Amino acid sequence: MSNNDGKNAEKSFHMTPEEFRRHGHAVIDWIADYRANVEKYPVLSKAKPGEIRASLPQNPPVQGEAFSKILGDLEKLILPGVTHWQSPNFFAYFPSNSSEPGILGDLLSSGLGVQGMLWATSPACTELETHVLDWLVHMLDLPKKFLSSSAGGGVIEDTASSATLCALLAGRERATGYASNQRGCYGKLVAYTSTQAHSSIEKAAMIAGIGREHVRLIEVDENFAMRADKLAAQIDADRRAGLVPFFVCASVGTTSSNAMDPVEEIGKICQKEDLWLHVDAAMSGTAALCPEFRHIHRGVELADSYTFNPHKWMFTTFDCNCFYVADRKALIQTLSILPEYLRNQATESGSVIDYRDWQIQLGRRFRSLKLWFVIRHYGVEGLQHHIRQHVALAQEFVSWVSGDSRFEIAAPAPLNLVCFRHRGGDAINQGIMDRLNASGDLYLTHTKLNGKLTLRLCVGATRTERRHVERAWARIREEAGKPRSSAHT
Ligand SMILES: *Cc1c(COP(=O)(O)O)cnc(C)c1O
Repeated sequence: MSNNDGKNAEKSFHMTPEEFRRHGHAVIDWIADYRANVEKYPVLSKAKPGEIRASLPQNPPVQGEAFSKILGDLEKLILPGVTHWQSPNFFAYFPSNSSEPGILGDLLSSGLGVQGMLWATSPACTELETHVLDWLVHMLDLPKKFLSSSAGGGVIEDTASSATLCALLAGRERATGYASNQRGCYGKLVAYTSTQAHSSIEKAAMIAGIGREHVRLIEVDENFAMRADKLAAQIDADRRAGLVPFFVCASVGTTSSNAMDPVEEIGKICQKEDLWLHVDAAMSGTAALCPEFRHIHRGVELADSYTFNPHKWMFTTFDCNCFYVADRKALIQTLSILPEYLRNQATESGSVIDYRDWQIQLGRRFRSLKLWFVIRHYGVEGLQHHIRQHVALAQEFVSWVSGDSRFEIAAPAPLNLVCFRHRGGDAINQGIMDRLNASGDLYLTHTKLNGKLTLRLCVGATRTERRHVERAWARIREEAGKPRSSAHT
């Protein structure tokens, strides 16, 4: 080009490799310090609605800012609005635990910046995923039909909600000869799950055009597990009404109370009725790493699909869900669509997996890296050790609650979730929970069981030790001892 003497080298706003190295080290230091000190923060953010936004500048910067200033603002402006899910005093919902190898694997996934929609767009992204998912079949002792070497296989989805939606769609297509995708009209299809199942099943039915009205919420027994006899009766009634049952979702560990549906009995009904059986083991599936907890998977060999979240209890930084199908052709036939611009030799040869055909979206992150890092860092034994520890701590908590006559255990606690309540009624339990959460000392959430407000304590944060659970119990007792009038007046 004309009169370019080199001084006018291309202008760039990019971070230089040296700057990146320096700031990157600072970020890792920040994360290491944060994790070392996370216990000191109030677990539940005290931010009021709108407060965080109000502290941010009205307009984006026209000129770039110094990285140290950006990182400083993370601490100053953002941290006050963060609820500390990685705190060892986090006992709310189900955990979303994370670990150093998980974080580093996720960082490397960002560093590589791979988009793994097709095998051809990054072979390692696909093959590592297939490999790690096969490892997990052995690690959890899942049925061999979920291995990639069989007719089935596994895939990493973002969340259990997506996995369940994919399962429901595949079930819908199988039940309608793969015609619903073409012609629509699935007004007679009916899906089944229990009254205690996760909301993602109803949501999947909404999205898939089944309609919430055609999701039957089957009654549960005294342990909050689906009643197989009621399921069979409902299927029968629906058939007689001219409807078309097609899909059942059984829960291995409901979110509300960790109830275990009788998968084996449900599976036999599904086989007889030719219905797609999906098993949702979002949190509790991880427990099957330990042979002594594998009974929770009894009957899973009858499932068409199965899902669990390493991003809940298996130390794998959000998001990472594992989804297995027994017949990958059913899933692929449901979700596959091949536009010209994605055609390539590897795909045409049929000798590779293109995971875009196993999920809703096209693009996908290199999520298997963090899972691979976690499994290799801890080893099977390390993972088992920490899962056992969490379960043991929860069981110890059960014994403490049982030993205090003011409290009662509200549901069976097969693993790491304890549902309990003060015998004094809803207002007292609400007061205890509100005061504890406001104190910042720990974070608990609630559910309703048989119409009664019930407190939930789930042990699953990466760094929760005995002393944290002991203190939680001490604080619960302390708040229970306070006169009720001190609550909100
Ligand atoms: C948490 C949970 C889900 C939803 O998980 P996401 O990954 O957030 O979609 C589904 N089912 C059960 C039983 C759960 O506990």
